[in-house]
Amino acid sequence: PIILGIESTCDETAAAIVQGDTLRSNVVASSMAEHARYGGVIPEIASRAHQQAFVPVVSKALADARLELADVDAIAVSAGPGLAGCLAVGVSGAKALAWAAGKPIYGVNHVIGHVAVTQLQFGAIPPNTMALIVSGGHTSLLHVKDIARDVTVVGTTLDDAAGECFDKVARLLGFPYPGGPYIDRHAQRGNPEAVKVPQGLTQGRAGKEHPYDFSFSGVKTAVARWVEQRQATGQEIPVDDVCASLAHSVAQVLARKAIGGCVANGSDTLIVGGGFSANSQLRAQLLLEGQAAGVEVRLPRVALCTDNGAMVAMLGSNLVDAGVSPSSLDFSIDSSMPMDVISRQ
Ligand code: ATP
Ligand code: MG
Ligand code: FE
Repeated sequence: PIILGIESTCDETAAAIVQGDTLRSNVVASSMAEHARYGGVIPEIASRAHQQAFVPVVSKALADARLELADVDAIAVSAGPGLAGCLAVGVSGAKALAWAAGKPIYGVNHVIGHVAVTQLQFGAIPPNTMALIVSGGHTSLLHVKDIARDVTVVGTTLDDAAGECFDKVARLLGFPYPGGPYIDRHAQRGNPEAVKVPQGLTQGRAGKEHPYDFSFSGVKTAVARWVEQRQATGQEIPVDDVCASLAHSVAQVLARKAIGGCVANGSDTLIVGGGFSANSQLRAQLLLEGQAAGVEVRLPRVALCTDNGAMVAMLGSNLVDAGVSPSSLDFSIDSSMPMDVISRQ
């Protein structure tokens, strides 16, 4: 089927057309530059930017694919999780198109879209696959038994996302927002043993068995305290060493739990996605531990890891292929959409 996918969960307004597992167009507009001076995404600014970009971005996605709306078999749009005011713009626009053109619409889960998009690079997702989705807003380990019908949550962060933790430490070190890529670069020159960074929740939540949950807020606090102590005594801050210690510690805990989750669930494939999966320390650690455990690690190219319309279109395509009913035209956005809900009714 030919699917138009629309994405507006955070700061990217994006649209793409997929046909089978071929990407026919992929257009992304970002309002990130407008948020940089605030050190984080400002929801009001982001939703206004979506409202301005929606029609030009969707028009260009259709034009690049040499298609008109009438040629499309279905429309898919991110219904959540994300910023409510941002989701509302994309979903309202997508509903208007579906209503006017008489097309079925699927309100889909953005995070599961990060899993689905890997099909454009690696082909079909084998049954019983695990997925690690890491970004500025999410850190989730999912068990994907069937991308269209059966996804369960194996672990999640109990506080900050991995990218959020990097961005907070980067701010402390004086890097511009978003600082994750700066930490990556400086970490390549530093000593990962220099600063002791706690690997939060290595044993799981106290009193309960949640061995695959994550916690990154303590990591940020520990690094902040270490830096403040050095500053108080007038010592220089070894920025490269701080970055290397942070990056290696976070990469280790993510890789250990993701690969451990694969082994525990008898899964021999791990899909990785989300903007933080661009991180080179995480990529290296996942490949290393994946190889040792006999797990194939699917690390997509960076353009497929960050938020885009192709991920939404690809998940929509999977739902159409599986014969899942479309969403009704009065489906609602869900800013905290659970990870085991694949599409809204
Ligand atoms: P969402 O959470 O909805 O997916 P997002 O905008 O937070 O949205 P992305 O744009 O996919 O997510 O990812 C951005 C995050 O990834 C930021 O926190 C950024 O610092 C981090 N990041 C990007 N590249 C790297 C890198 N090379 N190393 C570490 N962190 C990185
Ligand atoms: Mg983003
Ligand atoms: Fe995302």
